[in-house]
Amino acid sequence: MRFEIVTIFPGFFAGIFENGILRRALAEELVTVGLHDLRVFTHDRHRTVDDRPFGGGEGMVLKAEPLAEALASLGIGPKAVSEKCQGTTSVVPPMPQNDAGALAPEGEPLAQRPTVILLSAQGQRFTQAVARELSRIDRVVLICGRYEGVDERINQLYCDMELSIGDYVLSGGELAAAVVMDATMRLIPGVLGNEASGEFESFGVTDAEITSDTQGVPRSQHGAGGLLDYPHYTRPAEFGGLRAPEVLMNGDHHEIRRWRRKQQLRKTLANRPDLLEGAALSAEDRLLLESIKQEEC
Ligand code: SAM
Repeated sequence: MRFEIVTIFPGFFAGIFENGILRRALAEELVTVGLHDLRVFTHDRHRTVDDRPFGGGEGMVLKAEPLAEALASLGIGPKAVSEKCQGTTSVVPPMPQNDAGALAPEGEPLAQRPTVILLSAQGQRFTQAVARELSRIDRVVLICGRYEGVDERINQLYCDMELSIGDYVLSGGELAAAVVMDATMRLIPGVLGNEASGEFESFGVTDAEITSDTQGVPRSQHGAGGLLDYPHYTRPAEFGGLRAPEVLMNGDHHEIRRWRRKQQLRKTLANRPDLLEGAALSAEDRLLLESIKQEEC
């Protein structure tokens, strides 16, 4: 997979790729990243990338021309133009979607085409599900806005989606791009040391969708199926006057699995009750939820 980042602050990303999983993914060339300084695509003495907004108002707006040139340098033209000129093999074909509006059916690779994303507080919310879909795309272009944002015509002409990393306003798209890259890269096969880690975690897939091989070992985890993760403990068994739950130390994988599921439900109910609505809950989950609610009364 390759990420292309268009930014006025390429230096922002210096430290991000030098640690942990991302460093390894790059070193092993499971992922490559191209950093593109927007100012390179300006033609005036001051390397101007912004201008005042039409209609007045606060702040400045990132100009369309340098962004269009940056995208052209990556072989990306305006969607309508490339569709018109190149028929079905356009540089930026429309996003492939299934009936449910997903980018492609689960498990199937997406078309070999760059997906152009504008980071924006006005975008659709970036979620683990979106990260899973992006991780199946070969080449993703991330446009980092600044100031009041990007001239909307760049969004209209070039972008396949606008992504927001949350309901707050950042001063630039760079942090958002780093978040999108981190969450997406770790889902690329081979990037995590233990493939199963990406399946058994908050917002993860359902049990039915888990692909990692348990090799005859009884599984002590559930797929989150849209819930939050359960709490984790490690040695020492006693810390700060608190003992790690006995159930985790008795080796009964069935019991551990049941306990962990209950904790997943408990945490989700406490911290993100909104997630319960869309979660894949079994009849047993619903009983566990009821018992949690009663315990808390
Ligand atoms: N005027 C914009 C608004 O109210 O929606 C905010 C612009 S913000 C100061 C500058 C840039 O930061 C945006 O163009 C975008 O690239 C990035 N940004 C800000 N918040 C973001 C978020 N929640 N998710 C993704 N990108 C964000």
